[in-house]
Amino acid sequence: MVAKRKKYTRKQIEAFVRDVERYLGPCGIEQPYDHGLHWNNPHSTLKDVLERAEVPEECQEEVASQVKCPSGDGPHDIWDEVGLKYEGELRYEDMLEQWYRGHANRLEAFSAYVQKFPSLAAAHEVGAEIRDAIHQFPVTSLKDTLLYRARGIKDGRELQSDDFLAPDPAKILVGEGRFNHQGQSVLYLAGDADGAVIETVKEGEMRAWVQAFRVTRVERILDLSADEEWAEEGLPLLIFGLLHTGPLREFADRSRGWKPEYLIPRYIADCAKEKEFFGIRFKSVRHTGVNYVLFDSAAQSAIPEGKPEIRKAADWKAEWKYLPPNKWPKFITEPIEPTIPEEFNDLIEI
Ligand SMILES: [Zn+2]
Repeated sequence: MVAKRKKYTRKQIEAFVRDVERYLGPCGIEQPYDHGLHWNNPHSTLKDVLERAEVPEECQEEVASQVKCPSGDGPHDIWDEVGLKYEGELRYEDMLEQWYRGHANRLEAFSAYVQKFPSLAAAHEVGAEIRDAIHQFPVTSLKDTLLYRARGIKDGRELQSDDFLAPDPAKILVGEGRFNHQGQSVLYLAGDADGAVIETVKEGEMRAWVQAFRVTRVERILDLSADEEWAEEGLPLLIFGLLHTGPLREFADRSRGWKPEYLIPRYIADCAKEKEFFGIRFKSVRHTGVNYVLFDSAAQSAIPEGKPEIRKAADWKAEWKYLPPNKWPKFITEPIEPTIPEEFNDLIEI
């Protein structure tokens, strides 16, 4: 007896097509060819993908004929090799969906709460979860690494290496930062000199004093600089949401007195310090590189190397053009005219 062929509605077929398409990555025509095809990403037969997406046998041919290949060369036969996304990319997409379905609103409520009661963050259920989960964040370390700190050009004074050390709060008013409260001395460093300049300049400026630092060794650095559109295996959903959905990277207008964008990052810094982390690695909101903040004694592990010099952020516009315009900080979109005093022009190295 022949089994009756099951019929699927157009809507069901379309849903199967979408389920299959979300697994697909760049396929063969986008891979290098040298005495045969070299795949840069995972690949498999379309048949395997149909199975993985749980498309019933009876409609696999029909679904395959409607699947759009992301490289634009379809439709593929079910026995063709097709490119797949990496597991980390698939995990990222799954987690992002879960996050917006059930958790994003909880983080928003937490954000509203800390704006009202900054010192009670740990009393909120999300605050308590963050504090408990701090040991599950990614961890990194620094070993014999060159990092950079910049300071604005304020007057004709030639800055010395000592001017770049972590400020002494007994002598200098230390302002609040993304990862420090007012009066707490920490050392903010950028991964490259351009990044340091971009962190420091005000609207319209392009040049700043830059000092290189060599960090011999700092262990236990909380790593908030997750790769874009990628989720590591075992990453808890709350940490995923913090790393990937923006609460740690909201652009703060530094000229404003009230910076609510700093409240959650600063709470995470407090939780990290409480659990004996020595610093945080994080992505800049102003440039495409990474920054570090070193807490307390870890700041002493950064030793100035060479003398400070005035540097121009040569490639900053080039870097920004890879980001969508809504990610550009406001000052980037304005015409840029250096506001450096005349007498410095001879010193400038471009
Ligand atoms: Zn293809």
